[in-house]
Amino acid sequence: MRSMILSAGKSCFVACPGCYNHFAPTLAHTDDLVAFVRAYRERFGLSKITVGGGDPLTRPDLLALLAQLKNMHLSINLDTVGTAFLGDARIRFMGKGIAPTSQRNRSRP
Ligand code: SF4
Repeated sequence: MRSMILSAGKSCFVACPGCYNHFAPTLAHTDDLVAFVRAYRERFGLSKITVGGGDPLTRPDLLALLAQLKNMHLSINLDTVGTAFLGDARIRFMGKGIAPTSQRNRSRP
């Protein structure tokens, strides 16, 4: 099985101080990503893809991208920190990677 990790998001909701990602200044166009994956699939027999970022949920057209990848019959893994699924994520992180001080202190012993 050939697999690939595709960095599809250019940012992350959490923004950890020690983040290992080097985010691109712009978001790659979906058509370009799909064309790249399709070419790789045809050349190397790609069957599995991990869509990451940063966090892929920061990508506005993520569903359109995933639909096109699925049309290629790829097995898809979404690599997300999941904060976008939390009801209070926008309040806690606000895209700046830090919870309010009172929240941080409350969780410490
Ligand atoms: S959670 Fe987000 S900010 Fe933290 S290390 Fe991962 S990609 Fe970087």
